[in-house]
This record gives sequence, structure tokens and C-alpha cells, in this order.
Amino acid sequence: MTVSAPTPAAAVPESLLDRAARGERLDAAEIEALYHLPLPEVAAVAHGLRLARRDPEQVSFLIDRNINYTNICNVGCNFCAFYRTRRQADSYVLDYEHISQKIRELEAVGGTRILLQGGVNPELPLEYYTGLLRHVKTHHPTIRIDAFSPEEVLFMEKAFGMSLDELLDTLIAAGLDGLPGAGGEILEDDVRAKAAPARIRSADWFRIIDAAQRKGLYTISTMVIGFGETYAQRARHLLKIREQQDRANALYGGNGFSGFAMWTLQTEHTRLHGKAPGATAHEYLQQLAVARIALDNVPNIQASWPAQGFKVAQASLYYGANDLGSTMLEENVVSAAGGHQRVQAQVRELVRIAVDAGFTPVIRNSRFEIIERPDVAALLGRDAANPEAERAVGAGA
Ligand code: SF4
Repeated sequence: MTVSAPTPAAAVPESLLDRAARGERLDAAEIEALYHLPLPEVAAVAHGLRLARRDPEQVSFLIDRNINYTNICNVGCNFCAFYRTRRQADSYVLDYEHISQKIRELEAVGGTRILLQGGVNPELPLEYYTGLLRHVKTHHPTIRIDAFSPEEVLFMEKAFGMSLDELLDTLIAAGLDGLPGAGGEILEDDVRAKAAPARIRSADWFRIIDAAQRKGLYTISTMVIGFGETYAQRARHLLKIREQQDRANALYGGNGFSGFAMWTLQTEHTRLHGKAPGATAHEYLQQLAVARIALDNVPNIQASWPAQGFKVAQASLYYGANDLGSTMLEENVVSAAGGHQRVQAQVRELVRIAVDAGFTPVIRNSRFEIIERPDVAALLGRDAANPEAERAVGAGA
């Protein structure tokens, strides 16, 4: 009897998700392919990467306040329900004392950062901005100021006839700590041109962010889905953020984006209402998981409770997110377009979201450094020895 040699088993090609789970870098086509895979499998890989890249026990958040110093804006984005023209009765510019009052309220609840942003108001002189930064630094020295989106910076460059370097140096000298990466939306110009013809284009957004990172400012990357953009456009958006992060890591001593924040388009009271598809909770969670996999060099991925509500934000902690954003003592822009009813969160509420999902909540600053470990038993009214014995959640301020 002749015995034939065993046929070698055909090698099983390694799947895209296996490679992603090993932390291998994916290209644009591979990132796009993730959107077509079953979400539970993509989420499992994203969560595994989150556990490996950040403290697996902890979920962080920040105590802060958004202060919108003016709602007058001449950009007129189709998706914005916040802006007003100068002649509208409810248009405003906040004076410094009004802003101080808001900051005192933030200080009273232990806040450490303000996000200071507004419309593009052609009537404000450079001295308004520099005076405001100096006022905040003088009267509220413990508060970090992350201010002026790339759109506002672009306006200042043109209006005040300054080079970008000169302008940023002036703002930094007056007290600027960081430049929020608002206005990222989808960083593909054909999407931007339809949603907001006069909106800052992607090249300018990256030019301004790059200069801010070079100068040591805090920055964060952002994304908004639901304009009707394709998966390929979403994948390219993520890739551009990853490339900028590589650049900042190589050239600016690692001062790249400290995190990635993503939310879904809200269109109530805007010209896009009924014209843009928006995005469901499933799409939101899918995008979050894809972002965690694609952005292998961005450490922190935030969940968005203002757009998605607390319950989806909590689920996000198993789709790649390691951070709950901030308490946001005040938010006016997303909520004007129909955000998820809630415009602020109590510390206790974010603590409960983290604890009930199985994590330890920690309070951070805007650079994602831990500054406090909240007393869970005291905040939730639970007996530390018997965490199931909840006594007073929902009671009190
Ligand atoms: S999103 Fe910003 S730039 Fe656009 S209209 Fe609203 S306030 Fe102006």
C-alpha cells in the first residue's frame, strides 16, 4: 500500500480585523472596508485597542464650560442654528465682566478649563480678543483657556493683516493655552462646500492646527458625521488626522492632538433640516469604533453625550471611547440645532455612567492629565462595601 504525503493545509489569509487587533496600521481602503464588517466584531477590536492603549480601568472626563463670547457671525454655515446677524434682536457680544461671572460659576464647581469660542464677528477688533485673554488670566489664574477655532483664527489673520505666526504669538502672549479643533466636521472640501460654502477649507484648517501644535498649544481633532458623506470620505478624514498626528509627533515633540471628539450632525432650526441624513446611534458607534482602529496615534477617543445622550455615550465605552468629554456647564451651539436635550452634565451623572459600565471615573484637565479621583461612594450615595446598595442617586444638586 502506498501512503501519499499529507497535503499541506492551505494558509488561511489573515483577516483585516486580525491585523487591526494587532495594532497594524490600515490604509484608506482598509479603513473604508471596516464600515462593511459586522459592527460587534469591529467594536470588539476597537475596545481591545482601547484597553491596550489607555488605562483599562479608567474613564476620564473634564469639568469645564463652553463660553460663546458672541453669536454674531458672517460665515452662515447651513448647519448652524447658533449664529445671528448683527441686526437680529437676540445677537450679542459678551463683555468681560459677564464672562467673568460665568467663570466664577465654573470655579465654584471645581472647573479647570473654558472653551472660548464664538461666531466670526467682523466688528470685533484684535484688542477685544487679547484683552479678553488677559482679563481671564488676571482674574482666573487657575483656568486654562482653550479658545478660537481655526475658523476664527483665519478671520483674525485676514481682518488684522497679521501672519499666522504673528497672530498666534500675540494670542499666546495674552494668555491663550490651546486651540480647540472645532470646525473639523468632514475635512473633505466637497462635503464642506455643500454644507457651508463659506466655511474654512481643510487646507486652512490643517495649516492653522499645524502652527498651533508647532507653538506648543493644546489641540483636539474633531469629526461630525451625517452630512451625507461617503465611507471613503470618512476614511480620508481619519487618515488626514492621522497624518497630521504623525507630523506633530515627529516635528513638534509629540504635541499633537490630545484626543479625538466626534458627534452626529444636528439640523433642527437649520437650513440643512430635511436635506442631510444625519446619523443614527448605530452609525455613531460604528464611526467611533472605526476611529479607534484607524487613529493608532491619537490616544484619547471621546464619547459625545450632548449629541447622543447619556445612554449611547455609556455604550461608547465599549466601542473604543475612553473618555466622556466634559460636564460642559454651558453649551450653545450643538443644542441650538437640537442636541440631545441635555446641555450640561453633573459630575455625579458622568461618574455613574462610568461606574455602571464597569470603569473607575477620574477627573482630568484639558491635557488629559488626571487631577482628581472622585469619591464615588459619596457622589452616588452607595455604600462602598456594598456597591449595589444604591441609596440616593438622582437626589440633590
Ligand atoms: S458654525 Fe461657526 S462659523 Fe459657521 S455659522 Fe455657526 S458660528 Fe458661524
